Amino acid sequence: MKYDYDLFVIGAGSGGVRAARIASQAGARVAIAEEYRIGGTCVIRGCVPKKLLVYGSEFSQAFADSAGFGWTVTGATFDWATLRDNVQKEVTRLSGIYNTNLIKAGVTPFEERAELVDAHTVRLAKSGSQFTAERVLIATGGAPQLLDGLPGLELGITSNEAFLLPKFPRRILIVGGGYVALEFANIFHGLGAEARIVHRGDRMLRGFDDDLRAHLHIESERFGIRLTMKTTLTKIEKAKDGLRVTLSTGEHVDTDQVLFAIGRHPNTRGLGLERAGVEVDKYGAVVVDEYSQSSVASVYAIGDVTNRVNLTPVAIRDGHAFADSVYRNRPTPVDHRSVPSAVFGRPPIGTVGLGEGDARLSHGEVDIYRTNFRPMRNMISGNQERTLMKIVVERATDKLLGVHIAGEDAPEIVQLAAVAVKAGLTKKQWDSTVALHPTAAEELVLMREPVPRSPA
Ligand SMILES: Cc1cc2nc3c(=O)[nH]c(=O)nc-3n(C[C@H](O)[C@H](O)[C@H](O)COP(=O)(O)OP(=O)(O)OC[C@H]3O[C@@H](n4cnc5c(N)ncnc54)[C@H](O)[C@@H]3O)c2cc1C
Repeated sequence: MKYDYDLFVIGAGSGGVRAARIASQAGARVAIAEEYRIGGTCVIRGCVPKKLLVYGSEFSQAFADSAGFGWTVTGATFDWATLRDNVQKEVTRLSGIYNTNLIKAGVTPFEERAELVDAHTVRLAKSGSQFTAERVLIATGGAPQLLDGLPGLELGITSNEAFLLPKFPRRILIVGGGYVALEFANIFHGLGAEARIVHRGDRMLRGFDDDLRAHLHIESERFGIRLTMKTTLTKIEKAKDGLRVTLSTGEHVDTDQVLFAIGRHPNTRGLGLERAGVEVDKYGAVVVDEYSQSSVASVYAIGDVTNRVNLTPVAIRDGHAFADSVYRNRPTPVDHRSVPSAVFGRPPIGTVGLGEGDARLSHGEVDIYRTNFRPMRNMISGNQERTLMKIVVERATDKLLGVHIAGEDAPEIVQLAAVAVKAGLTKKQWDSTVALHPTAAEELVLMREPVPRSPA
């Protein structure tokens, strides 16, 4: 045989594992290399452990809310080691399942780093073994960005380390304005820490609908997270009691932990892509076509390393579509539009499709339906948290362009709203659905009048 393998996958995360399994089940001889732990970011240090920490952090609010319903909760205390270790146990269980599934599918796993030697050859960094493959799939994901050059940078951590902290911080300063920053602020605050976000932009959650962003600012501050915008860090130093951070405003902040959540870069450094002649963009992302094929015919790339839509279900779709296209004779381009996403903040966000600003730019005239209310549950609890719902509709066609919710269960609700947006339903069809009472979600089908247009 000309090559050792038909397919060599680099990176056993969400995308790589799916691609390897489907290709192998289709009869290809497949190997996969993983430098850290099988399962990748989502399973080991992303979505899964994060959501488990979110669940853990929600109890404090539930205890507070319970008083209005007649409960007295006394002596509630929180033990970080218990939560951390239970989360890690679950992560290890899931990683084991991923490994077993790979082996069951006939894939050969190598638990070490791999790099490209040329367009058909991969070298394993630790053992030095070298293998040839007809095709190589780059599925190496992304890695946290750091504030390079910041004095004291090494005193901070990223989300990677946040899951494994030996000690729970009493105070945490989080740097960044994206969903990871907001989620960790909510997790730590919900678990009892003082949380403060410092962000160089003027608002959190760039890329989300502006009303949602404004709503989350109000609600996050109401929840007790301190937001400091238009500010950066100039220094981190060790202090007698933790760390001392200097901000660009000159303010000194004493804290126990600094967490950098300023974005992620595609994991292509040192991968040898240049040796194979694979084109990358200015961010280091592998440039691919709609079938995930790179500029070199034998090299493909999927998931976060391509920096298209950096979410787990997308990486899985990319991986599955690649295997279908190449090994099952079913050419499958992936449509990256109208992918729903969530932010597990307080309240959580669920969103799909275009925000108002983007919709106006790409579709011209739009109608906006919006409601902002205090949900029934909060009336008795005394919790002041409000829910925002917003629907963006193309005026000319009446088609739904986006559905955006900040409120309890928003991610669960939006998964289904995404079906309607993806299917291109009209607002009239949406409204023909009878409400389900009593729910918060019923408000979504009861917004009959668009908000009046502000004068141009
Ligand atoms: C804190 C956090 C929370 C997140 N929450 C969500 C969420 O709620 N929902 C959601 O959809 N997405 C979430 N994401 C994003 C999600 O984790 C990624 O989109 C997804 O994991 C991408 O899958 P992937 O297969 O492209 O890469 P990854 O899952 O990152 O897998 C890449 C793998 O390649 C390995 N690797 C890298 N280089 C090499 C090499 N040279 N040799 C061998 N192995 C290598 C890495 O160790 C890694 O295991 C979150 C991410 C983070 C960081």
